[in-house]
Amino acid sequence: MRLKQGMIVYPGNPEFNIKQLKSIPADSSNLSEVRMGVHTGTHVDSPLHVNNKGVSVDELPLNYFYGKCLVIDLTNVKFGEGLRSDDFKRASIKQGDIILLKTRNSGTGFKAFKKDFVYLTEDGAQYLVDRGVKTVGIDYLSIQKYHTGYCASHCVLLDNGLVIFEGLDLSQVKEGRYTFIGLPLRIIGAEGAPARAVLIED
Ligand SMILES: [Zn+2]
Repeated sequence: MRLKQGMIVYPGNPEFNIKQLKSIPADSSNLSEVRMGVHTGTHVDSPLHVNNKGVSVDELPLNYFYGKCLVIDLTNVKFGEGLRSDDFKRASIKQGDIILLKTRNSGTGFKAFKKDFVYLTEDGAQYLVDRGVKTVGIDYLSIQKYHTGYCASHCVLLDNGLVIFEGLDLSQVKEGRYTFIGLPLRIIGAEGAPARAVLIED
């Protein structure tokens, strides 16, 4: 996702703010300050996000953020509904894959926060755990149902040693195999961090 003033954030999270502190010619250089939550735009959730004993984002091996990737088109699933294990049965998921879930969330343009976004159910998350997936990404600002009230698919994934990408914009991406790269900023002790994520066509 592009980071800009006024962009959508998950309700209750800090707004993205960029301010120019110095500018040419009054100053000798241009200098900007950014204020944002670490779960803004495209970002990584580390286990510390949902578990005080979990590791922070800077401690995660780089292996989670790079590698063979399968984008699964799930745009048939309606708003307000969750992705279930049955939705993944037709996909050729391999052990060690990075799985990106393309839903109709990507078609919204991310202009206003949509509470009935398509999410990943616990059953769907468990299926991906059982298939030996290392990283799961989704095209909205949370991977679990809005206001679940407890740790649902976040915990199924993170407590089982998987890493989560949220806020991916997959609107221009077709289902298929790619190489994925998405390196989060190495913020010491943080439970998440923004990342620049890209897919490379094989
Ligand atoms: Zn997050």
